[in-house]
Amino acid sequence: MPQTSFCALCGTPEPEHPDPHSGQMLCRPCAAQPAYVPDVLAYLRNFPRQSVRVLMEAPLSVAGRTELWRALERFVAVQVGRVQSWRVNLPQLAGA
Ligand SMILES: [Zn+2]
Repeated sequence: MPQTSFCALCGTPEPEHPDPHSGQMLCRPCAAQPAYVPDVLAYLRNFPRQSVRVLMEAPLSVAGRTELWRALERFVAVQVGRVQSWRVNLPQLAGA
C-alpha cells in the first residue's frame, strides 16, 4: 500500500494527491494531479487498520473503486519496476 501519513517528497502530513511517478502520495504544493476523492482517500488511509468485513460493509462507489484500483495499480507497477531493475543490474542473482 502507498504511504499515506506523509508526502513522499517533502514529508508534509496527510497528503491527498496521487504521485504517478512513485505510486506514493503527495501534498498539494508537491502534486500535479487533483486530490483523491474523499472516500478513496479514507480507504487508503484506513486500509491497514480496518478488517475486510468493515471494508465490505461500506464499499466504495463505482467511481471510487476505479480511482482506488488505478492508485493501487500505479503503486504496484512502481514496486515491480524496482524489482525488475534490480534483476537487470544483478543478473547472476536473478535466478536465485
Ligand atoms: Zn509535499
